[in-house]
Amino acid sequence: MNGNSKDGNGEKRIVILGAGPTGLGAAYRLQELGHRNWNIYEATDTLGGLARSFTDEQGFTYDIGGHVMFSHYEYFDKLVDKLLGHDYTQIQREAWVWMMERWVPYPFQNNIRHLPNDVLLECLMGLINAQKEGRDPKAARNFKEFNLAQFGDGICKYFMLPYNFKVWAHPADMMNKEWIGERVALVNIERILCNVIEQKDDVNWGPNNTFKFPLYGGTGGLYARYEPYIKDNLYFNKRATGIDPTAKTVTFEDGDTTHYDVLLNTMPLTELLPMMEGCPESVRAASSDLLYSSGYSIGVGIDRPTATSKCWIYYPEDDSPFYRVTYLSHYSPHIAPPDTTLFLTETSTSKYKPVNEDTILEETIQGLINVGLMKEEERDIILTTKVIPIKYWYPTPSVYRDRGLGVIQPYLMENDIYSRGRFGAWCYEIGNMDHSTMMGVEVINKVLLGEPEQTWKLHDLPDHLEQMPAASAPPEAVGVSADAQ
Ligand SMILES: Cc1cc2nc3c(=O)[nH]c(=O)nc-3n(C[C@H](O)[C@H](O)[C@H](O)COP(=O)(O)OP(=O)(O)OC[C@H]3O[C@@H](n4cnc5c(N)ncnc54)[C@H](O)[C@@H]3O)c2cc1C
Repeated sequence: MNGNSKDGNGEKRIVILGAGPTGLGAAYRLQELGHRNWNIYEATDTLGGLARSFTDEQGFTYDIGGHVMFSHYEYFDKLVDKLLGHDYTQIQREAWVWMMERWVPYPFQNNIRHLPNDVLLECLMGLINAQKEGRDPKAARNFKEFNLAQFGDGICKYFMLPYNFKVWAHPADMMNKEWIGERVALVNIERILCNVIEQKDDVNWGPNNTFKFPLYGGTGGLYARYEPYIKDNLYFNKRATGIDPTAKTVTFEDGDTTHYDVLLNTMPLTELLPMMEGCPESVRAASSDLLYSSGYSIGVGIDRPTATSKCWIYYPEDDSPFYRVTYLSHYSPHIAPPDTTLFLTETSTSKYKPVNEDTILEETIQGLINVGLMKEEERDIILTTKVIPIKYWYPTPSVYRDRGLGVIQPYLMENDIYSRGRFGAWCYEIGNMDHSTMMGVEVINKVLLGEPEQTWKLHDLPDHLEQMPAASAPPEAVGVSADAQ
């Protein structure tokens, strides 16, 4: 047992599993508060989790999907400032949709004036009909009904439904609408009509219309900078494989065990529950309410300058496997060698949307050509490619998610286990880097200072789901078999 602490003095022993943004936020806060009896254990040899980056031999640095850093929290902003100092770029978001052989500024719904006239008319009629029919987004029972009520049939047909299927790899009627918040620009029909009639682009919506990016090392460059603050309490290559909530111990792959008084888990809930001794069957079964998609982050580096002001582009059509491409080399001069371009593509997968791992790279390159980002002859100037398969990509906000979480989380907390972060909490709406970091910080504030958590909470079930029986089937595996860890 390596458990009692490196420097215990009667303090509660806090153990953190996972050194992604959530675990690192908690670790940073512990050292900031001067607590000494804690450790953080990471399965891999790198900090950052899904927000880490990879640099290849040719000098191209890849993130896992396009990561944009923006924040809802003063604490997070100050922490980023402290870690990065002046080593960041500040970027004005320029996001586009490419469809019907044309550019439509993001958000799509505010900029439909760019569509062909017949499609524009169909979208406008759809909006008007949805209002005339009194479709009420608040009464929608799922994300599909929400879209049809909010945007009408035309916008759903041409963008919302095909695009969201490409992103989520799940049909929209399997998803709830509770996650939407600031993630989807809602419709204001007067604003849309004005934009059409006045021929005006409307591009400033959203919380991330300017963002910071680390100057060095990609997004992961931020997380690498935690190391000096936490290195005395950090263990790499320590994969937890068993948890005994009665004895309050964690066992690792290498046979070591450690004791905890409070455990902060940041690994996916569907990985945590099967390793918990004595976990009630009802709790294990509840994890079948937790759906997720897997994904491929694929980089293609070519020998031509990044001559663009675009940041990223959304692709709702089926001439490309990816739903988004980021011009990553636009974010920092140190992401790629001089006068080259690095495209970073994102493709999701699940049992509803299979992807062939053997052909996905070629499909991606062909997709870049199909959508006009590369020319056929530029195949000859490809300098590098990298395929990063990720098992846990997006925690699907499924219709029954909150029913499952309502069983799982109280059981864990009764056992002094806080499961937080993107897949630890399994709530997409608080699954970004700032939310994750703050979930970690706030658990420590709760345990040591008695302050209530602000970011994480259990949701009430919507009325139409309250009567549903608890889930009874074991969770189904989806998507890719390996992740990048
Ligand atoms: C495609 C994509 C795009 C994204 N874009 C953005 C964006 O633009 N902006 C933004 O803010 N956020 C974005 N995110 C979200 C961001 O990556 C997450 O918020 C963040 O990484 C979650 O941090 P976490 O610590 O909760 O989990 P993770 O990052 O998943 O970290 C968990 C850690 O636990 C470790 N671990 C797993 N199992 C074990 C075990 N058994 N024992 C020990 N350690 C273990 C893992 O190795 C990992 O290091 C994006 C994510 C994806 C996938």
